[in-house]
Amino acid sequence: MKSFMRKLKQRYFNDRKRLIWDADGTLWNFWFYFCPFADKVIPYLAEQFGVTYEEIERELGRVFKHFGTHEPILPLLFTRFRRAWAGTDEAFYEICDRYEQMLEQSRRKNLVVYPEVTSTLETIYRRHKNNWMLSDGSMHNILKKLDHLKLISLFKGIVAVRAEVPPEDTFFKPNDFARFHQVVDESEVLIESWRRRGLILHMVDKTQQKPNLAGMDWILNMGDDGRRLVKPMCKAHVLMIGDNPGKDLGVAQAAGIDALWAGYGLYVPPAYIRMIDIRLTPDGRLREDGHGISYVPTQMPPRLDRLACVSEVLRWVGFAIIQREPRVLPADAFAESVAADE
Ligand SMILES: [Mg+2]
Repeated sequence: MKSFMRKLKQRYFNDRKRLIWDADGTLWNFWFYFCPFADKVIPYLAEQFGVTYEEIERELGRVFKHFGTHEPILPLLFTRFRRAWAGTDEAFYEICDRYEQMLEQSRRKNLVVYPEVTSTLETIYRRHKNNWMLSDGSMHNILKKLDHLKLISLFKGIVAVRAEVPPEDTFFKPNDFARFHQVVDESEVLIESWRRRGLILHMVDKTQQKPNLAGMDWILNMGDDGRRLVKPMCKAHVLMIGDNPGKDLGVAQAAGIDALWAGYGLYVPPAYIRMIDIRLTPDGRLREDGHGISYVPTQMPPRLDRLACVSEVLRWVGFAIIQREPRVLPADAFAESVAADE
């Protein structure tokens, strides 16, 4: 009887087989390492090019807007500073390399997952449910971050955006196209190596970002063995989790699947908001077209719940959340630690 009840309970609760995660703002926050990087790289570039901080900010903002991302490949090649550069190519590429190093350093130091992300993904993985990812980030960046955070083995499949390669005649100097391609080739090797290790990877174009259904449709039609399903997954077996109401809840609504809103992902320190929405923009003014991170839509797409923490997802897939003992420090704990320091 007991086992019958257990089976019934399992069947009732365990009907969600596939969880589709957004990456940035849901598992980690991109701005938490990008903004400290921007704080360092702006003075560095201003000194190298002999211009003001504002000129650097406007020009980077213009390039980021053009590519639709703050992490395009070698953004400095597309700035007016490259066009006006009178020095050697090598000297300019050194500045590009320094830019990448500073970004990488900040990523290593400041990219961390939100609380309970790893344990939640592990619980889902251990219980034979599958984590998938649907991200608007570029594939090589997503793989690098998942690898750095040691999360990559917890995912079955990832859909992300293909790196954009601008036409050859848009580069300012003859050697830049080859330099750019060197980086693109390296990232393609990385993507291929993960594919060979069994990760199911699919790339969409920049125009197919969420809430476009291209990536979501692909996931719903792909089996966990990497082969196309004869008929798409039952929508009741899928759950989307993301922080962006328009993109993540929007794509779930368009596909007709349930979604959870990672509301905690919206918190960003005010100085970072200023950096993203005002300083690193083409005109230094808050955008009024509904974009930017301080923008909140007036109407919310339907969702099951607003999460205060990632582990609350477990409740929606039928696993009990482990209640931790509240940590209460003894009243004299502070005095003790001060005494120990002295
Ligand atoms: Mg997001």
